[in-house]
Amino acid sequence: MSGNALSDFRRIVIKIGSTLLMDQERRLLSDWLAGLAEDIAGLRNSGTQVLIVTSGAVAIGSRILKIHLRRSRLEELQASAATGQVRLVNAYQEAFSRHGITVAQILLTPDDTEIRRRFLNARGTMEKLLEHEVIPVINENDTVATDELRYGDNDRLAARVAQVVMADGLVLLSDVDGFYTANPRTDPDARHMPVVRTITDEMLDMAGEPGSAVGTGGMLTKLLAARIAMHAGCSTVLASGAVERPLHALITGGKCTVFVADKTPAAARKQWLAGILEVRGELRLDAGAVAALRDGKSLLPVGVIEVVGNFKRGDAVTLLDAGHGELGRGIAAYSSDEANAIRGQRSDQIESILGYRGRSVIVHRDDLVWFGNENSTK
Ligand code: GLU
Repeated sequence: MSGNALSDFRRIVIKIGSTLLMDQERRLLSDWLAGLAEDIAGLRNSGTQVLIVTSGAVAIGSRILKIHLRRSRLEELQASAATGQVRLVNAYQEAFSRHGITVAQILLTPDDTEIRRRFLNARGTMEKLLEHEVIPVINENDTVATDELRYGDNDRLAARVAQVVMADGLVLLSDVDGFYTANPRTDPDARHMPVVRTITDEMLDMAGEPGSAVGTGGMLTKLLAARIAMHAGCSTVLASGAVERPLHALITGGKCTVFVADKTPAAARKQWLAGILEVRGELRLDAGAVAALRDGKSLLPVGVIEVVGNFKRGDAVTLLDAGHGELGRGIAAYSSDEANAIRGQRSDQIESILGYRGRSVIVHRDDLVWFGNENSTK
């Protein structure tokens, strides 16, 4: 793909850096936001699903609380984030309301994307919002994220979100218009690279940290984010957002660097699943479930004959046919105790059996790698 074909993406995560959203005095630039909303409304009309990862809470809040950004302690920054986040999402909601679009706030900590059980929760919510045509507006949960345990920058957060929702596109909008062979601010020979297929160690070494006034990410964090995304089968577009209608500019041929993923998100997910070393249990399936899974469907409790092992929600389990042949592997949406209680039952019975609503599937189709019948005969 090329940068001017954003609408080729099925699902995009767009990351907005703080510097784009506000002026030097840290006042929100609502006209800029209105232009972005117009662009995103257009993308959605062409059938692309959009999630937004936005920075800006700390910067906006620190202005309100009169806190100095660089000289403040963590708690002061967290108080700023708590204050600014309200203004930030309100500004997004206001901008999108003009297009009849609803936004929803999601605040994440690294555990929500890195621990498999929590990953399932975060993904479930984001998928539902997209189903309802709501735009998730995501930021780090700065009020609880401590120095030791935080994404640190929203470039990485955006890449993790792209991985969780299996987005095929990640757009990093900031004050840089792409990747250069050297730092363009200091080296007149620096060449802009429109397409990157591999992020090399040399590129990472070279990516300095061009400090900007309010954002935290430099070129290095962008490359690292692009690398996470590429591994997840998601291409990354790095472009400047410092223009009105930034996505429109990109679509009409604006300068950018595209980091091209060489596989699809589905292929990357399967590869990741196949590589999980610790498998905690087994689910034995009836013939109906085997046929459904072969067709790419999710595994429902009704198709499970037997549950073996002691596993938690989020653990990897082996999927076996009635004859104990290994057919695939998946991430369990229920613990072994719960799975035992609901196996063989219809999904609408789950609530009365477990006492809570739960999920309708035992293994979601996106969390499943299917080896097929070949193995069962060996
Ligand atoms: N979460 C921070 C904020 O909203 C921003 C982190 C970043 O800019 O990368 O202010």
